[in-house]
Amino acid sequence: MSPSDEVPEAVPSVAQVEANLSAVHAKIREAGGDPSTVRVVAVTKGFAPSLASVARAAGLRDLGENYAQELVAKVDALRDHDGSPAFGGDGDGDGGLVWHFLGRLQTNKVRAIADLVGLWQSVDRAALIQQIARRAPRAAILVQINLAGESQKGGCAFADVAPLVGQARDAGLDVRGLMGVAPAGRPDEARPGFRRLVSLADELGLVERSIGMSNDYTVAVEEGSTMVRIGRGLFGPRPRTDTP
Ligand SMILES: *Cc1c(COP(=O)(O)O)cnc(C)c1O
Repeated sequence: MSPSDEVPEAVPSVAQVEANLSAVHAKIREAGGDPSTVRVVAVTKGFAPSLASVARAAGLRDLGENYAQELVAKVDALRDHDGSPAFGGDGDGDGGLVWHFLGRLQTNKVRAIADLVGLWQSVDRAALIQQIARRAPRAAILVQINLAGESQKGGCAFADVAPLVGQARDAGLDVRGLMGVAPAGRPDEARPGFRRLVSLADELGLVERSIGMSNDYTVAVEEGSTMVRIGRGLFGPRPRTDTP
């Protein structure tokens, strides 16, 4: 994307994002969650790179992207903005940002973002595990499950989760938990898939359950989400519609 393709007017203000984040925290509380333990991953995909510094100024620390190129562009924009290292690693405790990779990932893209990603959330196959282990040894990952068996979505089958967790550990990766994307539909229809993911995470002793997006995160929190991934609910409609 060239700078002329950016739509700066579509980037919300810090005040708007702060207000939206407070509303999200309130809804997490209403759903029985604790905003200090349910992490809000702010999904910046589809927006101009300048959104990353807006998100940070609004107090967000976990940012999510779906495409390697967009992630690199946003990290560069943050560097240009304030000269601080946008970070790497998981950034815990240093007030830095943690970038979450959420999209379908080709193995040949891993290298370009290996130093930038703090949590690889969309790990769904052995080849990707091997490549991440090679380019980002000991990286933290989530195994993504395809909750409703939709062929156009990423994620492995429920039956493949335990073997993939084993392979990832054998490869030296730090498996933190499971991730899933509910099928489009009424929020309540997401519940059975979320419930199944959470019970599998319990069974495998995995702490993180990354479930819930703008339209279904309250259901996800009710079901035990530890990480909600929210784009439109924080930033409004995405200016570019070629992102899933
Ligand atoms: C786009 C995306 C989100 C955020 O979606 P919103 O509906 O904008 O909240 C969360 N998770 C994944 C994997 C996504 O691709």
